[in-house]
Amino acid sequence: MSDGRALAREYLEQQKLLGGDSVILPDGATSGVRPGSGGPPENAALTPGASPGKTEGRSAQTDAELPPPGISYDPPGGDLFSNDPVPQAASLEAIAGLVASCTKCRLCEARRHTVPGEGPPEARLVVVGEGPGRVEDDTGRPFVGPAGELLTKILGAIELPRERVFICNVVKCRPPENRLPQFDEIAACVPYLFRQIEIVKPKVILAMGGTAAQTLLNTKQSLGALRNLVHRFRGIPLIVTYHPAALLRNPNWKKPTWDDVRIARRLIG
Ligand code: URA
Ligand code: SF4
Repeated sequence: MSDGRALAREYLEQQKLLGGDSVILPDGATSGVRPGSGGPPENAALTPGASPGKTEGRSAQTDAELPPPGISYDPPGGDLFSNDPVPQAASLEAIAGLVASCTKCRLCEARRHTVPGEGPPEARLVVVGEGPGRVEDDTGRPFVGPAGELLTKILGAIELPRERVFICNVVKCRPPENRLPQFDEIAACVPYLFRQIEIVKPKVILAMGGTAAQTLLNTKQSLGALRNLVHRFRGIPLIVTYHPAALLRNPNWKKPTWDDVRIARRLIG
């Protein structure tokens, strides 16, 4: 650890960004770092080699070890000789077009808009959620309701503005009353997601919540068991974290989520 004050500052900024309680710093006291518990010497910022303007906390992170490897899932790609249009779709727009007229599962019945996902085809990060909620169904855009606002803040906090990230869901139509997507609905829809990932070829995939994690890793393991490992989907590093809607209900998960997204950030490079 090179600079305890920088780490403390980073922690406070993270708390602020993720909507944590504000912290009041009494004059002269160092909040968040117990006196004598590895806090920095008063002149830490003057340590030779500590370049001004550089966030020491982040470089300390970079040196830390990555979590151990987890599950590798390598589903077969599309058959070039079949006439299924999904694995043959040449672009994200082509997939969105197929999704727009899809009736492969019962979720087509009550949808207002399909929500294929959005973001640049050259994105280095793909974020995968569960399925559209009400605001997403109204607008046709992923993660634009309350959970989406939190996701946008989280991405901003790791210096990846959401415009540079491809954001999508496991199912592209809203499940009624926001219930969990059922197994057959996921099975019907997942070829779109797999083809989107194939087209974007991101450096990292961030699976938010149990549905995304279990679908992309083909497992029934719990989210808790899947966190803090570097999994692979077709060779691409995949990090599992809490769903932002769960964070809105349980603020205790903000800190572990922050840890997870920083691991994803480091893997992106
Ligand atoms: N929750 C999701 O999983 N996806 C969205 O797009 C919005 C909320
Ligand atoms: Fe098609 Fe997926 Fe919508 Fe079901 S959820 S109708 S499979 S696009």
